[in-house]
Amino acid sequence: MTQCPVCNSTRIETRHYAKKVGGAIGTVAGAASGAGAVLSGAEAGAAVGAVAGPAGVLVGGIAGAVIAGLLGAAAGCATGVAVGDAIDSNVLDNCRCRSCGLTFSVGHR
Ligand SMILES: [Zn+2]
Repeated sequence: MTQCPVCNSTRIETRHYAKKVGGAIGTVAGAASGAGAVLSGAEAGAAVGAVAGPAGVLVGGIAGAVIAGLLGAAAGCATGVAVGDAIDSNVLDNCRCRSCGLTFSVGHR
């Protein structure tokens, strides 16, 4: 249980600014860096879909691009959240006491 170092209140709210920001940035960065993966995903999907004919190439290409894009965004988001969480834990004053208003850092976990 997190306690205020001044008044020992346990009415502490945690703030996760870096975690939220990191997740958002990570999602965008992941999707952006996934752009190359989207292309290769589309190619791979098209190659696999080619077995089923011209329509298969289209469907396979779209599916491959969508999957690669989602994977890139998801991986980026997870990375961003992890980085942001580390920042929250180690750098920022990530806790605020609701009794006296003190903000302080807790290296939780
Ligand atoms: Zn306090």
